Amino acid sequence: MTSLLGKTALVTGASRGIGQAVARRLAADGALVAVHYGSNAAAVHETVQLIEKGGGRAFAVRAELGMAGDMDTLFTALEAGLLAWTGQVRLDILVNNAAITADSIETITPETFDRLIAVNTKAPLFIIQRALPLLNDGGRIINLSTAATRIAMPEQPYAMSKAAVEVLSRSLAQLVGGRGITVNAVAPGPTVTDMNPWMLDDPEAQQVVGSGNAIPRVGHPADIADVVAFLASEAGRWVTGQIIDASGGSFLGPRI
Ligand code: NAP
Repeated sequence: MTSLLGKTALVTGASRGIGQAVARRLAADGALVAVHYGSNAAAVHETVQLIEKGGGRAFAVRAELGMAGDMDTLFTALEAGLLAWTGQVRLDILVNNAAITADSIETITPETFDRLIAVNTKAPLFIIQRALPLLNDGGRIINLSTAATRIAMPEQPYAMSKAAVEVLSRSLAQLVGGRGITVNAVAPGPTVTDMNPWMLDDPEAQQVVGSGNAIPRVGHPADIADVVAFLASEAGRWVTGQIIDASGGSFLGPRI
C-alpha cells in the first residue's frame, strides 16, 4: 500500500510489541516513521532494519518518558530527524503507544503510581502539546488505551492511567476538529507482547485468554496495527473522538 506516501509519523514505544507493528505498518503504507524508544537500543535497531528491509523509511528517536526533560529530549531528536529526512519539521501522524503496567491496588506504592501516571498519562498529554504546532491540518492523533477501561480487570491503577487518555482523546477531538485533525483511542484486549510475559511462549495461556473473546483467540500486534493504520489513512478521516475497541470482542457477554 502507498496511501501514506509523503506523510510523516511519530510512534512512541515502537521498539517492541504493538508499537513496532504500528511503525512497520505505517512505513509499509509509505510514511516516514520516527521510531521512538526508551532504552532498548537493540530492539529499536531491529525495528528500523525490518522497516528498511521492507522498503520503508524510518529513524530512531530515544527519550525515556517520565524523566525530567523528556519532552525536550524527544522533540529535539524528532525535529532533527524530520529535518534531515524531509528538509522540514512537519508531522502528519502521532501514535501515543509507549506505556507500562503496574501492580494492582493491593500492592501498588505511591512511587510506582506516580511513575505509571508519568509514562501512561502525563507523557501523551505533553507529547500532544508539543506535537500540535508541528501537526499538519488533516493530521491524525491515535492514542493507545486498553479494554481494561471497559472490563473489570485486576490492574486498576493501569486502567485508571488509560481512562484519562480516553477522556483526553474525546475532548481533544473537539478542539482540533476545525483543522481536520482526528483524535481517537484504540483499546486492545490482551495481546501477545512483552507486556504479558506470562503468555508469551505459552499457547495454553493464550488459548485460555482468547476463549473470553467473541473471536476466540488472543490478539497479536498486527491485529492492532491494522486498526491504527485505518485511522491514520485517508479512509479514517470521518472517525474522530472515538474509543475503538480492538480486542476481538473481549467479554462482550455470556455465550448461550
Ligand atoms: P511492550 O511490548 O511492553 O512495549 C512497550 C514499548 O514502550 C517499548 O517500545 C518501550 O521501549 C516503550 N516504553 C515503555 N516505557 C517507556 C518509557 N518510560 N519511555 C520510553 N519508552 C517506553 O508494550 P505493548 O504490549 O506493545 O503495549 C503497547 C501499548 O498497547 C501500550 O500503550 C499498552 O498499554 C497498550 N495495550 C497493550 C495490551 C497488551 O496486552 N499487550 C493490551 C491493551 C493495551 P523500550 O523497550 O526501548 O524502553
